[in-house]
Amino acid sequence: MSKNKHMNYSSKPTGNSTKPLVIITLTVIVLLIALFIFSNMASNKNQPSTVFQEPPSLVNQPVLGNDDAPVTLIEFGDYKCPSCKAWSNVVYPQLQKEYIDTGKLKFAYINVLFHEQESVLAALAGEAVFAQDPQAFWMFHKALYEAQPQANHDGLWITEEKILEVVKTAAPTIDLTKLKEDLKNQEVASRVKIDNELVQKFGVKQTPTVMINGTVLENPFDINMIKELIDKEIGDKQ
Ligand code: CA
Repeated sequence: MSKNKHMNYSSKPTGNSTKPLVIITLTVIVLLIALFIFSNMASNKNQPSTVFQEPPSLVNQPVLGNDDAPVTLIEFGDYKCPSCKAWSNVVYPQLQKEYIDTGKLKFAYINVLFHEQESVLAALAGEAVFAQDPQAFWMFHKALYEAQPQANHDGLWITEEKILEVVKTAAPTIDLTKLKEDLKNQEVASRVKIDNELVQKFGVKQTPTVMINGTVLENPFDINMIKELIDKEIGDKQ
């Protein structure tokens, strides 16, 4: 009995020698799965996913740029979302320079509430600022993305105090006392509700979601695809 036990123990090193093989096999499986996911992402990358015949109504929504611009790009965004901050830093400036400032493109923003209370508070603040001064909204919009921390963006950072601080600095025309009241105003809340209904209606599943004249892009960071679509829409309208 004790001999067997000993033999069992002594056989252990042989058992251990299979470990590297298991690790190699698992690594290969993980790599294959990663490759599969990556190739799927890459193949989707250059295709617009969904086309809506009738884009969302932009009544009471912030719209930047020339009223007569032939193309409208809508960002469905969430101030709590790091990809939205990245999009506004990387993609937006190129669009602004090439298309918005030259009168070819209108840019609109619709709130998405994927991060619960903080998203709701930021959205209410945006609507309240917009109601007081539509132009000041865009200063608020830029400044709130800038205020999003690079690290630990999941931690609580969108607070009433933070909102007031951002608005005070970035949009000094805004009456802060009124803004504070408006965060509890039913009319302002109804504007956020409308945005949320649009998110449902247009099946927004990720932020940012970018829609160009009704076409939702699979990859909102594909600047070449965005430009291609805008140019095509401009051509179609001429
Ligand atoms: Ca809105």
